[in-house]
Amino acid sequence: MQTIETLYPQLSTPKKIVITMHQKPDADAMGSTLGLYHFLVQFGHSATVISPTNWASFLNWMPGCKEVVDYERDTDKANILIDQADWIFCLDFNVLSRTKRMEERLANAGAERILIDHHQQPQVEVFAYGVSNTKKSSTAEMVYDFIMESGHEDKINAFVAECLYAGVMTDTGSFRFPSTTASVHRMIATLKERGLNHSNVHEALFDNFSENRFRFIGNVLMNRMEVFYEYNTALIAVPQQDLIKYDIKTGDTEGLVNYPLSIEGIKLAAIIIDRGEERKCSFRSKGDFDVNTFARTYFGGGGHFNAAGGQSKEPLEKVVEDFKKAMMENRDKLSTYKF
Ligand code: 5GP
Ligand code: MN
Repeated sequence: MQTIETLYPQLSTPKKIVITMHQKPDADAMGSTLGLYHFLVQFGHSATVISPTNWASFLNWMPGCKEVVDYERDTDKANILIDQADWIFCLDFNVLSRTKRMEERLANAGAERILIDHHQQPQVEVFAYGVSNTKKSSTAEMVYDFIMESGHEDKINAFVAECLYAGVMTDTGSFRFPSTTASVHRMIATLKERGLNHSNVHEALFDNFSENRFRFIGNVLMNRMEVFYEYNTALIAVPQQDLIKYDIKTGDTEGLVNYPLSIEGIKLAAIIIDRGEERKCSFRSKGDFDVNTFARTYFGGGGHFNAAGGQSKEPLEKVVEDFKKAMMENRDKLSTYKF
């Protein structure tokens, strides 16, 4: 993988570009890809954003989101775009398998693949160019760096600013995680100077939920949460029947894992959701408990040091059992945790 700077001189030559992200995109995946899109089109490139799957409706306010191609829904159209592309930007994921059914097409594409990502252990051999930096708060911050370092601050317009702000704000837990560096705050200052209305972004993301979602959360906290104080751990296990009963859609469960993490003394929080085709797990930790390794070791996943995920094909009860076993195996690290 050559460094991303190698691309800068080529930016002004119009190309066919696909920009993609991980499946079930979050606000960083959608915000960074759309932010890059609104930047690149100003050079006369023909660019399209493709998502491997559908996404949460709370992302639809983002400028350009309605034009994003859903690979599962519009596979033929997406395949043509992928096959004809000169460049394929791969944002906010480290391994091609995070693009689910798109993986094979991406792997076989004639285009040069370009990585911009902040997850651990990237599959560098499949990318012609790229930048991978686990110290970065968000992929949105890395797209901002890409724009600034290539000398194009003047191309940050209100669209670019809103999309990138959404990514960095959500991936830093509203600027609270340790990844929120001074550079992140400088970035926000620049976005403000370039037309960002940050209050609109907060409203669009956090004041747009359905009533059902809150009733679902009430049920989950009351009936589906277990707290293991001797392990400083809390677990939520959601059966599929709850998702059906409350008409839970993609994205409605995002952030739920943060509730148990905010209980006093809890250092490891987990949620396991029965999505039918698989059991999806999310892990969050505080301080020195490494959930990236935890997710990798026990649940075929990965992510970051304090936020990671995984999945299992086993029934929910078995995954809960596996989680408890894994928790017990990590007893020393969990029970001795100190701030
Ligand atoms: P979340 O719990 O919000 O789904 O994901 C937390 C972090 O872990 C994100 O950065 C996400 O990209 C990563 N992640 C979630 N699930 C998986 C997975 O199954 N495999 C890998 N490698 N990373 C994951
Ligand atoms: Mn991210």
